[in-house]
Amino acid sequence: MSKNRRPTLTTTAGAPVPSNQDSLSAGERGPLLMQDYQLIEKLAHQNRERIPERTVHAKGWGAHGVLKITGDISKYTKAKCLQPGAETPMLARFSTVAGELGAADAERDVRGFALKFYTEDGNWDLVGNNTPVFFVRDPYRFPDFIHTQKRHPKTNMRSPTAMWDFWSLSPESLHQVTILMSDRGLPISPMHMNGYGSHTYSLWNDKGERFWVKFHFKTEQGHKHHTNAEAEEVVGKTRESFQETLYNAIENGEYPRWKMQIQVMAEKDAETCAFNPFDLTKVWPHGDYPPIDVGTFELNRNPENYFAEIENAAFSPSNIVPGISWSPDKMLQARIFSYADAHRYRLGTHYEQIPVNRPKCPMHHYHKDGEMNVYGGIATGNANAYYEPNSFQGPVEAPAAQEPPLRVDGNADRYDHRQGHDDYSQVRVLFERVLEADEKERLFDNIAGTWLDVPEEICERQLAEFKKVHPDYEAGVRRAWEKVKAEGRYKPNAAPISEETPQVAAE
Ligand code: NDP
Repeated sequence: MSKNRRPTLTTTAGAPVPSNQDSLSAGERGPLLMQDYQLIEKLAHQNRERIPERTVHAKGWGAHGVLKITGDISKYTKAKCLQPGAETPMLARFSTVAGELGAADAERDVRGFALKFYTEDGNWDLVGNNTPVFFVRDPYRFPDFIHTQKRHPKTNMRSPTAMWDFWSLSPESLHQVTILMSDRGLPISPMHMNGYGSHTYSLWNDKGERFWVKFHFKTEQGHKHHTNAEAEEVVGKTRESFQETLYNAIENGEYPRWKMQIQVMAEKDAETCAFNPFDLTKVWPHGDYPPIDVGTFELNRNPENYFAEIENAAFSPSNIVPGISWSPDKMLQARIFSYADAHRYRLGTHYEQIPVNRPKCPMHHYHKDGEMNVYGGIATGNANAYYEPNSFQGPVEAPAAQEPPLRVDGNADRYDHRQGHDDYSQVRVLFERVLEADEKERLFDNIAGTWLDVPEEICERQLAEFKKVHPDYEAGVRRAWEKVKAEGRYKPNAAPISEETPQVAAE
């Protein structure tokens, strides 16, 4: 054995590389030779080091851990990973929504709270947020909403005008906007916030009974938030405050933990529930649906390679396992398609073969070739069984995994998405009963602080919506806005609105 214990540098094909210092030239001063393959490969790899960043949730922080079940919810679900005593390895990825990959962590934004549980029946992904509700209830509005959070096509800047224009025209957003602008809209780290499955999901048991559920993950580190002023200071010093806090805590053995709880609704109760229990802009009141303790998850291992394990991580609500299923929630139904599709585009058709996404249980399927098909073996386990039906012992379906029938409500009219919904009562409870007086003041200031250049007409439209929640809400924001004006900070932009908007014809 050589005394030199350092490994030999090789090409990606494994051949030893004679020089990694000097490019190969025809003469001392060049030009270079095409046959310097190692140089070409090096430059070509550099050009390909980035993959498409996520359209939303681009900036993220993650770690590995374990979910331990200490409660007994076996009467609701046959899911093996939710049975008493079960321990399931998992991956968590937290993120902001709007910021790009290099954006600062300490920005006011909703946080993604994505969990992947590697169960013995396949991967279960719960792709939630740190808020129990969302801005819209219908997926038709989702791409438009995200456009308002991203950059303006002409200025290439974020546009508070677009945000408030959309929100003020979408009263269903009031609940989420209030949470976003309250203290919980700016946590100090991923460890100091709750996670929520947000959507209504379902659990089903061995008897074929279905129950509607909400998933909650309560931080055991306590809620901690920045004010806007504190966050500005943090961002001035570091853009990576969330990454630093999570990474360092785990490196130091201070493993963050979250308590898992569910709320349960009997299947039939959904028909008589006073609000639409599948509406993503609503919570289920704890008084009516008390949280039940299920277990705890702990994050205890940092990724060895951030790109391989966090950037490549693909979470999708389409990943469920027997005993867990979806609900008629329209936003959930859309995400079942769009999240998996985002990964097919971003990572390649066979993105679930990338190690961090690969199930830890055996998998056998009839999907064949394509991008990222890097799995060495035959996906069916048998080279002759590459179609179905076959006579070669190829994989067969498992009828026991069939969930009970999902009853569909024939009254759901796709055109009435804003009729008959109460967009105000739950926000009123939050405002009146949950938020303390000092938090309300910060809420008012936070909102008015984003109106520095928003046209008056849009602000007034939003104030009218706040008034429908509570007169004090409107009065508080107006007061804070007047203060902003008195300080000379309000300079509404000249964006033409209403009928004066010039139409730009498509070429
Ligand atoms: P409860 O009084 O039983 O629950 C209020 C909940 O509000 C708390 O349990 C806590 O949720 C959450 N909360 C506490 N402080 C804040 C805060 N500063 N900002 C945002 N949320 C906070 O009442 P209800 O269940 O009837 O809910 C009342 C309102 O509370 C809802 O309309 C909703 O706006 C908000 N809320 C409700 C949740 C639910 O699932 N029922 C979850 C989160 C908020 P947690 O225990 O999850 O930390």
